[in-house]
Amino acid sequence: MNRSADEALRARALKVIPNGMYGHESTRLLPALYPQFFSKAEGAYIWDADGNRYLDFMCAYGPSLLGYRDERVEAAARAQTALGDTLTGPSPLLVDLAETLVEMVDHADWAIFCKNGTDATTMAMSVARAQTGRKVVLLAAGAYHGAAPWCTPIPAGVVPEDRAHLRYYTYNDVESLEKAVTEAGDDLAAIFASPFKHDAFIDQELPDPAYARRARELCDAAGAKLIVDEVRAGFRLARGSSWTSLGVQPDLSAWGKCFANGHPISALLGNDSCRDGAGQIYATGSFWLSAVPMAAAIETLRIIRETDYLEHTVHLGNRWREGLDAAAARHGYALRQSGPVQMPQILFAEDPDFRTGYAWGEEMLKRGVYVHPWHNMFLCAAMTDADIDFALEAAEAAFAALKARQPSLEPHPVLVAMFGAH
Ligand code: PMP
Repeated sequence: MNRSADEALRARALKVIPNGMYGHESTRLLPALYPQFFSKAEGAYIWDADGNRYLDFMCAYGPSLLGYRDERVEAAARAQTALGDTLTGPSPLLVDLAETLVEMVDHADWAIFCKNGTDATTMAMSVARAQTGRKVVLLAAGAYHGAAPWCTPIPAGVVPEDRAHLRYYTYNDVESLEKAVTEAGDDLAAIFASPFKHDAFIDQELPDPAYARRARELCDAAGAKLIVDEVRAGFRLARGSSWTSLGVQPDLSAWGKCFANGHPISALLGNDSCRDGAGQIYATGSFWLSAVPMAAAIETLRIIRETDYLEHTVHLGNRWREGLDAAAARHGYALRQSGPVQMPQILFAEDPDFRTGYAWGEEMLKRGVYVHPWHNMFLCAAMTDADIDFALEAAEAAFAALKARQPSLEPHPVLVAMFGAH
């Protein structure tokens, strides 16, 4: 596999980018073969800087819902680009988009738009505190809500005061949630939850309806706000709020990633019980009102309402999960596949230091399929049954190649440093 352009870029990047790359998009935590740089994308495929093509099961870590460069969305974006993007104030699309989301998301009575998921989750916390006049916010331990000091998983640059009023409970564990609520006393502002437990490196958990309902009851009893972080899972599980199927409506929800199919926009949605608090906080950013992503969002949301994108990804996800299990078994491997099929986490049983998963990822990459060894993946609506056939053929060969390599596999050095030797 040619890697010369990627290697040259990495060498240049080391001089002008801290560590050559930052965040979880750095290949520092991925198998050695994984490319750092990508040059283009189309539909379900991405091309690295050397021109190698991959069927992409990461979908840009979520933003590609319909497939890269979906022509319907791009046409809407182009039409708005011809008129203007970042202006002195919002375009009329601000109101159109807010009306659209208020219509589609049951609990939403209003919207504030921003750029990244972290903007939306951070604002959700501020609105809950402004509305209640209280400080304590409960979070599920290990859940990712963004890269700000209050929520980054990496402690560098964070001081304890940044998290002074945060408390942690265990996702799906009603007892631990009740305990954390009791300890917050009369200072509870909010409880945060993800639509399902989609933490990195571990098996995913669907929400226990009893946990979701109890979170709602506890908030109601305490006069606190329930916040659902839809940034990753929003519109991938439902055409509206992910917990509507459980009969639970949050007060606030944070959205991002996919609702403009890759165009940069996120949103905080809330109900009327938080409208005053939302009106009190200072909400702005130089690019928060840019109109092109709003045009892309309105078209993406139309496609979400009018097509079978969701059922299609579930159909493909079921085929992928079942086919992979069968292929793994034929080669003597057992997989731990968890999470919704359209957002799958694929780990190996008996692979505590991830050496097997990492090597399988490399073998898939060599065969033109980009999978992730520890983060949940995403299917997009541009994928076809033929793409799943292609991926399953690659998987069959990758398991065979893995078997041959198994005796000589070593754990990834950065993971050993992170988790210690197993
Ligand atoms: N919340 C969740 C659940 C996320 O998955 C992410 C991004 N991975 C964020 C918040 C933060 O979003 P962003 O990276 O756009 O700031």
